[in-house]
Amino acid sequence: MEFQSISQLKLLLDDNKISVKEIAQTYIKKIKEKKDLNIFIYFNEDKIYDQVKLIEKISNDNSLKGIPIAVKDLFCTKNMPTTAGSKILENFNPTYESFVTQKLINQGSMFVGKTNLDEFAMGSATNTSYFGDTINPLSNEGSPLAPGGSSGGSAAAVAADLCLGATGTDTGGSIRQPASFCGVVGIKPTYGICSRWGIVAFASSLDQAGIFSKNVTDASILLKEMAGHDLRDSTSSNVKIPNFSENLNIDLKGKKIGIPKEYTIDGISDEINEVWEQAIKSLEQKGAIIEHISLPHTKYALPTYYIIAPAEASSNLARYDGVKYGHRAENAKSLDDMYELTRSEGFGKEVKRRILIGTYVLSAGYYDAYYLKAQKVRKLIADDFVKAFKECDLILTPTAPSAAFPLNEKQDDPIKMYLNDVFTVPASLAGIPGISIPYGKDKNGLPLGIQLLSKHFNEQEIFNAAFALEKDYE
Ligand code: GLN
Repeated sequence: MEFQSISQLKLLLDDNKISVKEIAQTYIKKIKEKKDLNIFIYFNEDKIYDQVKLIEKISNDNSLKGIPIAVKDLFCTKNMPTTAGSKILENFNPTYESFVTQKLINQGSMFVGKTNLDEFAMGSATNTSYFGDTINPLSNEGSPLAPGGSSGGSAAAVAADLCLGATGTDTGGSIRQPASFCGVVGIKPTYGICSRWGIVAFASSLDQAGIFSKNVTDASILLKEMAGHDLRDSTSSNVKIPNFSENLNIDLKGKKIGIPKEYTIDGISDEINEVWEQAIKSLEQKGAIIEHISLPHTKYALPTYYIIAPAEASSNLARYDGVKYGHRAENAKSLDDMYELTRSEGFGKEVKRRILIGTYVLSAGYYDAYYLKAQKVRKLIADDFVKAFKECDLILTPTAPSAAFPLNEKQDDPIKMYLNDVFTVPASLAGIPGISIPYGKDKNGLPLGIQLLSKHFNEQEIFNAAFALEKDYE
């Protein structure tokens, strides 16, 4: 049994054509069948049935009653462990619920499990997790593909129909890129719209929660429920959250769409350019006006990101020292020894690399040359967008420079892996919202994604344009 959307399932539930328990049974069966894809770090049937008992009692007015949701294992959950994909948090049971997951629970959603991710959300292929690689459900037998990352488990869970929505976090592209690789919708909203409270921190000035879904309407329903002001996150914005799904509007007449010339880079496949071109044409046919724009500092976005993100990570990850929680090395001979051994045993290679880079760029003598410089460039990149949005309402670009690549293809070359984020990091540095929707396929039949960006808090226009483009493939 496959449900196409949240509203379809909700209708069946409201008409008593399906019960919450039957929804649970359906998804438990699917998840077990797809066990080999290693999508979940945590899956426990009893925990799902425990939720069923609670959800059955609540009113059908709750917008997400009985809706199966997968949770990236970076969100702290009270009733399920939270690992961040790391050995260092292997046995961590949070005593609190993250803001975002609590809001989803309040509306009656059913958490089917915690999804795999790159360790501490550092990566683009979900292959740095302590709990093994996740396989893209679109892979052909015998040639496994990467689901993208870091929220690869969540994107794969939606693509494999193991839930109707999945939470993700996006620091430099971790929602948009895996959405593109797995052929699903993924939105990273404006920085600050969803509280970071209870999300394991990677780079706090960039980390943003968002959602994966099968279609734009579902993404708009879920985002409304996840967003909101929270005093426990000092960067949480106090803005009114529109009822995105009720306001969806495909009329793009007169909307100005910016096409940035800097996003035409060497080495990106013709197929991606063709898909981009098709989306431009389609928007034009729908009445939008195409503007050719420039974002001149885009070329510095990757190096800037790969200084700022590791710098913040090195500071955030200092807390994992084996003292209060998480892994603690045995047989240490002194306190220093315990710190060192705990961290060397608990963190994987990529996380250690980031801590080293981050510590280096923040150290005395290098701080000005790297970290401070990167902060200044970040401002220039953000200003590019401010200027651009004086000329246009939305910006359209490809999401990623390629379709899903073979698992482990870029494993030994961090720079190649980092290049995946070339189209997604600029928006992260600027804190603006971005969506990736599937739009066309490459010659191997793999989905390609296109990205729509807009100014801060303008998610509604992003949803509207994405909703209009989605119709091209219905
Ligand atoms: N791929 C990027 C990185 O490795 C982005 C990760 C993310 O957005 N969490 O840092």
